[in-house]
Amino acid sequence: MTAPAPSQTPAAQRLEDIVLRMEKAARRIEGLAVPKLIAVSKTFGTDAIEPLLAAGQRDFGENRVQEAQRKWPALKAAYPDARLHLIGPLQTNKARDAVALFDVIHSLDREKLAKILANEMAAQGRKLPCFVQVNIGGEEQKAGVAVSETVQFVGRCREAYGLEIAGLMCIPPVEEAPGPYFAQLAQLAADAGVSGLSMGMSADFETAILMGASHVRVGSALFGARDGH
Ligand SMILES: *Cc1c(COP(=O)(O)O)cnc(C)c1O
Repeated sequence: MTAPAPSQTPAAQRLEDIVLRMEKAARRIEGLAVPKLIAVSKTFGTDAIEPLLAAGQRDFGENRVQEAQRKWPALKAAYPDARLHLIGPLQTNKARDAVALFDVIHSLDREKLAKILANEMAAQGRKLPCFVQVNIGGEEQKAGVAVSETVQFVGRCREAYGLEIAGLMCIPPVEEAPGPYFAQLAQLAADAGVSGLSMGMSADFETAILMGASHVRVGSALFGARDGH
């Protein structure tokens, strides 16, 4: 008997498998905590998301504000304790909508955005924890603050703008082994005095857990392959 392809397996079953793999990875090193699982539901509709909510999953990630606005108000009304994480780039003109809908921002990557987010949070009376996204591989096409500027940027977000910086986030270069990049992000977080580490996706979340991830962002391993993404 061959195992069914992921897209044919019920979502709740896939969720259980991922959680088991996370627990197994965390057990490999004494003192490691099982991180929070963020189910990345970008490109998937509410029909795909509901079964995971019904199975008890509460943290979800979306990478586009407008797409999340179409999907999440109804889901959040049905599941008021669901938490929505913005994991994609944020344009300053979407900051107001993002602060209103999301609960955590993982893509804080420039001073102008820090300033506008701080203003929006004050205006709306909502304080969202933020992760500073680091361009850990120094890749031209990728978002994120430079490694060499991360400690200073975290300090500035806290002191100049009063933001709650929960930790650092990264997406390592696709073609390379992620472990050393995760280790470097962990070191940077220690240097910056923040504890959260948002790192690890479907292909590498176990490695990220071994390097101390506090949040893993898993999409395709839960929802199946995305078309055109
Ligand atoms: C899409 C996405 C993920 C999830 O990727 P998978 O490989 O499908 O698990 C995680 N993080 C970010 C920032 C993403 O855009």
